[in-house]
Amino acid sequence: MIKIQNFIGGVLAAPLSGEYIDNYDPSTGSVYSLIPDSDERDVELAVSAAKEAFKTWSVTPVAHRSKILLKIASLIEKNLEALALAESVDNGKPLWLAKSIDIPRAAENFHFYGTGILHFASEAHPMEDSALNYTLRTPIGVAGCISPWNLPLYLFTWKVVPAIAVGNTVVAKPSEITPMTAYLLSEICMEAGLPPGVLNIVHGYGHKVGAAMTVHPDIPIISFTGGTKTGETIARTAAPMFKKISLELGGKNANIVFADCDLEKAVRTSVRASFTNQGEICLCGSRIFIEQSIYELFKEKFIKETERMIVGDPLIDTNKLGAIVSKQHYDKILHYIHLSKEEGGVIVRGGKAFHPDGRCADGWFIEPTIIENLPFDCRTNQEEIFGPVVTLTPFESEDEVLQYANSTKYGLAALLFTENLNKAHRVAAKLHSGIVWVNCWLLRDLRTPFGGVKQSGIGREGGFEAFKFFTEEKNICIKF
Ligand code: NDP
Repeated sequence: MIKIQNFIGGVLAAPLSGEYIDNYDPSTGSVYSLIPDSDERDVELAVSAAKEAFKTWSVTPVAHRSKILLKIASLIEKNLEALALAESVDNGKPLWLAKSIDIPRAAENFHFYGTGILHFASEAHPMEDSALNYTLRTPIGVAGCISPWNLPLYLFTWKVVPAIAVGNTVVAKPSEITPMTAYLLSEICMEAGLPPGVLNIVHGYGHKVGAAMTVHPDIPIISFTGGTKTGETIARTAAPMFKKISLELGGKNANIVFADCDLEKAVRTSVRASFTNQGEICLCGSRIFIEQSIYELFKEKFIKETERMIVGDPLIDTNKLGAIVSKQHYDKILHYIHLSKEEGGVIVRGGKAFHPDGRCADGWFIEPTIIENLPFDCRTNQEEIFGPVVTLTPFESEDEVLQYANSTKYGLAALLFTENLNKAHRVAAKLHSGIVWVNCWLLRDLRTPFGGVKQSGIGREGGFEAFKFFTEEKNICIKF
């Protein structure tokens, strides 16, 4: 059985506790590897290694840092098959998805920030002919990066790479539920010649490792992606220590389908936005609002298209949905399906656990589930389920649907479908959301600001926003 190791000071290391946590393959429900049960002592070692490495990495020429990041990108590409398989087994997601999205995007994160850093510049503010202000941006020190389980290597690298690119060193914690590809990345970093201590990966529980990172006085900056509750805990600890924080949190995204949309496109895209990665993407559109005049037609087509979303063994390419990441999360999703019925919801498709034949018989699978007849303000429509569960709700007017869409405490992403350009601009501007997709979903340009409003987070990732977050700004004013 594989024993995952921490990556501290450039070497793989066992946790000081000597203890390990079981790591499950969600498609079979069985333990297949072991995760270090690290604690604050391992975090201390990682912080020391990162502090030492910062002395040289922060003054290493940008071109050299870029070269190493690009080398890591090409090694990820070279190992795509193995990494994709590891991601699929660890998370339960279909292998084809890991091969086409997760791992290519992890390589792209290294490419994007590894080249982006070569073009990152700062501002100058001349005061006519009396003085010149210029902004100096410097790396901050040891950055703490904490990531979730839904897109493991994709989101882990999304935060770690810009931090390193600008000259910080990092102590990172992947989700304890999906640690495998971050572990494999440690080996790639060694092969690529990343200097020891620049990236340190400490595996283990959030309440031990994550909490020790958050409270550590020598980690002045924290980038976190995960649930809103955990974000709140981190903010509560970090605020009185005046740490810089970026929080990318939960969502309960609205998908608005107007009667004047391209219906076929809206149906296809909505199914993808509902069930990709078993609905375990923070950007999934889980509340679908349909203009009354096309409600029945949309519903019929949406159910039919969902029939094509076959659930089963993630290693079989024709299966569109794999397993739910953990038993605990599987139980949570089933609980919400049960709650929706108590709230008066009518299940028009799915609504049950699914037990495939063969090797995955004991895995944690749930059928893509479509529910209607629920009020917009019930718990099923307000709380994040983060699974293959969507609700359908009719609406009559723009004002009504904006009220529904903006009614949750979240504000991460929204989708809308219309062929009317004026309406698209008008509604997009009024949605309380960090991202709005019009006639598309998950179309990502990595240069754009990424993040949420309300309880979906604080700060923006992506492009130069990430470089700005991971640097300290100093204005220097020179009088002539
Ligand atoms: P969690 O908040 O449970 O965990 C995220 C990470 O934080 C994990 O590594 C976890 O460790 C760690 N953690 C847990 N407790 C603490 C603590 N007290 N201090 C510091 N770290 C801690 O989220 P999930 O992993 O369940 O991910 C799903 C959530 O992430 C959903 O709400 C989803 O919407 C959100 N998400 C947001 C995205 C965005 O861009 N806005 C993108 C993707 C997901 P452990 O492994 O032990 O739990």
